Amino acid sequence: MHLIPFNKPFHSDIELGYIQDAFHRNHVSGNGFYTRKCQHFFEEKYRFKRCFLTTSCTDALEMCALLLNIEKGDEVIMPSFTFVSTALAFVRQGATIKFIDSQSNFPGLDESQIERNITSRTKVIVVVHYAGIACDMDVIMDIATKYNLFVVEDAAQGIDSFYKGKPLGGIGHLGCFSFHETKNIHCGEGGMLIVNDESFIVRAEKIWEKGTNRAEYFRNMVNKYEWVDTGSSFLPSDILAAMLFGQLEKLNVIQQRRVDIWNQYYQYFSQMSKRFAIQIPIIPDYATNNGHLFWIVLENPGIRERLCDYLHQQSILAVFHYQSLHSSMYYSSQVTNIPVLPCSEKLSDCLIRLPLYYDLTDQEIEKICFSINQFFMEESLG
Ligand SMILES: *Cc1c(COP(=O)(O)O)cnc(C)c1O
Repeated sequence: MHLIPFNKPFHSDIELGYIQDAFHRNHVSGNGFYTRKCQHFFEEKYRFKRCFLTTSCTDALEMCALLLNIEKGDEVIMPSFTFVSTALAFVRQGATIKFIDSQSNFPGLDESQIERNITSRTKVIVVVHYAGIACDMDVIMDIATKYNLFVVEDAAQGIDSFYKGKPLGGIGHLGCFSFHETKNIHCGEGGMLIVNDESFIVRAEKIWEKGTNRAEYFRNMVNKYEWVDTGSSFLPSDILAAMLFGQLEKLNVIQQRRVDIWNQYYQYFSQMSKRFAIQIPIIPDYATNNGHLFWIVLENPGIRERLCDYLHQQSILAVFHYQSLHSSMYYSSQVTNIPVLPCSEKLSDCLIRLPLYYDLTDQEIEKICFSINQFFMEESLG
């Protein structure tokens, strides 16, 4: 039977042309021609203060933890329903994570729980724009100002999506994107740090390039470059940047098709949710949708398992995520008081993601929705 995978990375010949060009430029290490072109693209299009390509969003988050001088004893507030990296980058620096719950009808974090988790040791709030749909950033930035905290946006899924007209990643002090092949635009593995608070720019240049002042050396500000700070090798090869640049040229086309697919799913499921116990996505007035991810939430884990199996038999690969971080094996072994976060747990048990990629055809979408409808008809007949 014709297989519908969960994801199929977008590729065109443009990327190959740029990769070949990068190859011939004889500068294939980091911070080359295409790296700068990508960074300028984002700085121009979204008015981000300063962008640094990284080898992953995980790396960009690690740069944030270093820039914010996170150390043992510092507390960081973030949602539990997110990818491991959101927490790991800060845990590696010794931070204690205070996980908060998702909203009852939306996987994004519940802003109303932030304030009660703030203590004298809290340093950062990390927000995650789930499915590229914005958190209520005005509320979050106000809390941060009131308590003198930093805000990092994990906008891994949030490319070209907006909050009240502002691009995601460009609102907090720092922001992070992912260009992993599962994201809307990608270069296999890749990411980007966005520095919105200018006071971090000079240090970010150093942390990015192994703790050296190489950037100042190239601007002729110092006559030799040397070890001046902490850091790591966060730069991707210019070959990856060339691939990413090719994708950027296709950004509008990719986004349009993804949003179109998302809307088709939404139509089908609006109907189905009238007859069956299916919770469908909601998009708040202040947020846009970039078609990153289409999810539904089922009534219980048993139904989810049966639906996944059913779809698998029809050669449709639907998947689920995330296992709540607060109940993960690692976190449980590190802390004594594990919070109770029922909404996050429910999503871990009952959420399912449907195939969503550029090449997915209208017929395939129809087949997926038809199969799911069929499943629920059979379920209701017992
Ligand atoms: C994909 C993702 C990451 C990790 O991105 P990498 O580029 O693979 O490091 C982090 N946070 C969220 C919310 C993600 O979706």
